Parts: sequence; structure tokens; C-alpha cells
Amino acid sequence: MALTLTLTQKTLILVGVPVLFELAVVTVLFSLQEQTEKEVARESHARQVSAAVFDIIYDLWSAFSGGGVSTLPRNLVRIDKYSPDEIPRHMKHLEDLVGSNAREYRSAMRAEFLLQQALPRYIDLRRLAENQPIAALVAFGQFKRDFEPKIEVVLNALNGILAEEQRIEIESPKIQAGFRRGVHVTLWIAVAMNILLAVLLGIYFNRGTLKRLRVVLENTRLLAANKPLKPELEGADEIAHLDHVFHEMATALAEAVRKERAAIENAVDVICSLNADASFTAVSPAARKLWGYEPAELVGRSCYDFLVAEDAGQTRERFRQAIAGGGEAATSFETRLVRKDGSPADLLWSAHWSDSEKSLFCVAHDITERKEVERMKQEFVAMVSHDLRTPLTSIQAMTSMFADGIYGPISEAGREVLARVRGNVMRLISLVNDLLDVEKMESGHLQLNLKSCSLSEIVSRCLDAVGGYASQQGVNLQADPSEARVYADPDRLVQVLVNLVGNAVKFSPRDSLVRISVLEQDGFVETRVQDSGPGIPSAYRESVFDKFKQVRASDATEKKGSGLGLAICKAIVELHGGTIGVESEEGKGSTFWFRIPLQSDNGSQTP
Ligand code: ADP
Repeated sequence: MALTLTLTQKTLILVGVPVLFELAVVTVLFSLQEQTEKEVARESHARQVSAAVFDIIYDLWSAFSGGGVSTLPRNLVRIDKYSPDEIPRHMKHLEDLVGSNAREYRSAMRAEFLLQQALPRYIDLRRLAENQPIAALVAFGQFKRDFEPKIEVVLNALNGILAEEQRIEIESPKIQAGFRRGVHVTLWIAVAMNILLAVLLGIYFNRGTLKRLRVVLENTRLLAANKPLKPELEGADEIAHLDHVFHEMATALAEAVRKERAAIENAVDVICSLNADASFTAVSPAARKLWGYEPAELVGRSCYDFLVAEDAGQTRERFRQAIAGGGEAATSFETRLVRKDGSPADLLWSAHWSDSEKSLFCVAHDITERKEVERMKQEFVAMVSHDLRTPLTSIQAMTSMFADGIYGPISEAGREVLARVRGNVMRLISLVNDLLDVEKMESGHLQLNLKSCSLSEIVSRCLDAVGGYASQQGVNLQADPSEARVYADPDRLVQVLVNLVGNAVKFSPRDSLVRISVLEQDGFVETRVQDSGPGIPSAYRESVFDKFKQVRASDATEKKGSGLGLAICKAIVELHGGTIGVESEEGKGSTFWFRIPLQSDNGSQTP
């Protein structure tokens, strides 16, 4: 039962039980006090009634006693002294006092009734005694004879009342003493019960709450010490709930630690921690596979002992930066480590300094293979540029010489074949150039040779380059004049424009117009190439600038495209701080545009 109560209910018991007990004690004391007061009032009332009865008896005695025993003059003296008005007044007072007691009230009423008969005769008798004492004496004898039995009855009635009230007067103090004793006993019992209650509630609260809270506290200590927790507390109160949640949290924590350890142990990369002096303090098992070292061989030794000597200085600087950064962000850098077998390993380090742990937490990602691929790629590019482009260029030159008849006259059929060969060689050269550009673009080696140049010059160089092709395709080129100047690499801009105009010509129907216009707005120069070709579907308007993206499958074969031109254009324009895009309505042609910053007055780009 104690376990099923909540903390709130237990607190209510702790507070409520003593309060209820105190209320009960106060009620008993109050009732005893009230009864005592009632008893005191009853005693005092009895005394008043007794006094009133005594007054009337005294009145009667004063008036009638000794009538046959004493001498008349003495009686008369008494009559003189005594006022007959006193008896009715005292009777009235008695009646008021006993009004609440029916029996006594009846007795008083009867006494009054009898006295009312006697009183007028008595008053007459007194008057007679003033004038005719002898006659009054005779009349008094008669009066006594007439009223003595009645007075007897009155006295009996009054005595009855007196006896009753005197009994109360004797009895009441005893009852009052009983009540007072009751008050004392109640107080002592209350004190004893209070002490007992406090002890019992203390034991109950200790067992039900404090003891259980101590278990929860102990569990927090055990968790911190990485020791097994005490069994879960039983019950449904808040403490049991807290302990349950704590156990769940400890389980989740253990699971997280287990997963973290599994992640570190199974990680492909080497995860390690270093102290501020760059000595290993912990190393993940991946070091065994990647570097050939057991983690224990590394721990405690300086990281620089294992790095390629010429990389140590730069690595030291990077670690210093990571520590100076105060753990704000991870520092990434490349460095080489000498494996146990003596071979170098290219590593991409990501180091994060923890101020609280005073440790550098690092992930060393092995990029040896990637570096190898990069090296091979560079070799391939070098090979393409020298071993392929050079012979292709000389083939092109030789075909020109053949076409020019330097090696003797060529038949018409031979001329046609030669033209096709030249076209193919030019396409191959342009493909090789594109491939080299893409490689430069991706390796970040695409560089600009910036200078001030006019857009009209770039447009005119483009027209020179594409003019022949356009007339061959039966497409007319039109360029609007422009005064705009930009700070740019003119060769690269010509390359962009040639690509856009070349595409426009390639995709335009015969006898259509390709229009080149230049606009200046908001600090930018926008060059637009508008054609009447098939247009670009909306789904391709962004991706058409990705590498090898072609709208139609036939664009690679029929149109003899590689899908690289627009990607190179985008890279060049963005290197100039510009943007490139296309507006098109499918079937109604397209307008390719590129926007680059206008040249400012001091010669550089505006934005
Ligand atoms: P290539 O022209 O060598 O295929 P590009 O990157 O220059 O490569 O163009 C990619 C693709 O974009 C083209 O294959 C073609 O599908 C589409 N494209 C480019 N310009 C136009 C144009 N003016 N009209 C229609 N389609 C075009």
C-alpha cells in the first residue's frame, strides 16, 4: 500500500494525520470545557433558586411563625416590620428562576396560589392591629386556624424545590471536578499520541521516501563509477518512476557507449585522441590495418615520430591552430605518415580540440588511393595533352597543307575525303581541349588571365570563329553593337560565346537567324544568344549545364556533341563572378545568356 501511494499522497498523510488528530483533541477539549461551564451555570442556578426559596420561607416565617407560640405584640412588631409586598415579589422571582423546570414551576405556582388567598387577609389583619390590637389578636387566631394547613402545603412545596436544588449544589462540584479531570487526561493522552504519531509517521516517511531516495542517489553514484546499478525500486510512486527512468537512461547510455565503441573499433578511419603535446592518448584498432601499428605501440608516443619528416612542421602548425580555435570548429589538413612497413600513407586529418578534456580528437582518413588516382589522372591529362593533342594538331596542319595542294594536286573525291578528315580531326582536338578544360575546372587549376576588354571585340572574334560554320549550316548571324567593357579573360569569354553561338547554329533550322545582343544592367553585362531551334524543355533548364548532359539522345550522334561545352561555359562564367542560364519555350527556340560584372571606373569588376 505504501508503495502505491504517490509522493503527494504521502505528503498529504504526513500533514493531514497530525492535523486531523489535533482537530479531534481540540473538539474533545472544547466539549469538556462546555460541559464544565454548563455544570458551573447549573450549580449557580441551584444556589439562586435555593436563595429565592429561603427568602420566601423567611417571609412566611416572619409573617406567621410563632402565632400560637409568641405573644401578639411581638408578632405585630414583626408584621409592622415586614412589608407584605415582599412575598409576591419573591414568588415572582422564584417562578422566573424555575421556569425551565416543569415540576418545580408547578410547585411554585401552587404555593403562590395559596399565598394569594392568605395575603389579603393578612394585610387586613395588620391594619386592624394598628387600631384594635385586641380584636386583631382574636382575628389572628382565626387567621392561623384558617391558613395554617395551607401554609404547611406551601412550605412543603418550597422544601421540595429546595431539596432538589440542594442536591444539585452538592452533586455539581463533583461533576465539574470530573470534567476538569477529563480535560487533563485528554491533554496527556494528546501529548502521548502526538509523540507516537510523529515517530510512526517519521518511520513511515523514512521507509517509503527517504530510504528509496537514497537508493536513487546511490544509483547516480554507481552510474558515475561505471558500476552495476541497484535493482529497480518497486512501486508506482514518483521515486519508483524516477528510478525506472534512471535505469532506462543508464541502459540507453550503456547502449550508446557500446555503439560508439563499436563504431570506433570498426571505423575504416583511424580515430585517435592526442594531448596538447600531440602525443597519442588513445588510438582505434583501424591503425593496425591502415598503418600496421598496434594501438598500444602508438599510445604515449608523439605523433610527429610517425609523420613524414617534411610534413611535421605544417602538421604542428595545424594542431596549434586547432588548439587555438578552442574547439569552435574542426581543422582539416593533409599530411603523410610512415607506415610500419616504411611506405607513406596520405592522410586527411580532421582535428577537434576539446578544452574540457584538454585533448585533440582526430579522425585520420586514408586518402592514399585517392592521391594515387589523382596522380594517375594528372599523368593521363599530361599524356592526352602531349601525346594526343600534339599529333592531332600536326595532322590538322598536314591536312591543310594537303588541301592547299602543297603535296601536289588532289582529285575532287580526295578533296571530299580530306574535308571529312579535317572535320573529324578538328572535333577530336576540340574534344581533347574540352577534356583538358574539364580537368582543369575540377582540379581548380582553371585560371583566368584578366584584363580590360570590350564586349564588341569578343563578339567580333566569336563571329570570326563561327561565321564559316554558320554559313555552312545556312544560318544567319546578327550581332547588335555594344559599348560595354568588362574586366575579364577575353580568350575564355570568346570560348564561352563561341560555344553558345556554335550550339545555337547547330540546333537552328536553315535560313533562320541567331542573334547576339549585349545588355548593361545593375552593374552587370548580359550577353544573350537567341536562336529559333527546338528549345530546351523546362526539366533540363538547369541540368543542361551539367557535364555530359544532353537533351536528346541524338545530340551526341547526329549533332556530334560531347555534352561538355555548357559545363565549361558555366565554370568560366562563375570564375568571373557571373551567372549563366537559359530562357526557352519548347519548340520556339532558346536564349542562352551569361551575365558578368561590368568594369568599374578604376578598371576592375564592379561588384
Ligand atoms: P554539346 O553541344 O557538345 O552536346 P553542350 O554542353 O554545349 O554539349 O550542350 C549540351 C546539350 O544542351 C546539347 O547536347 C543539347 O541537347 C542542349 N543544347 C545546347 N544548346 C542548345 C540550343 N541552342 N538549342 C537546343 N538545345 C541545346
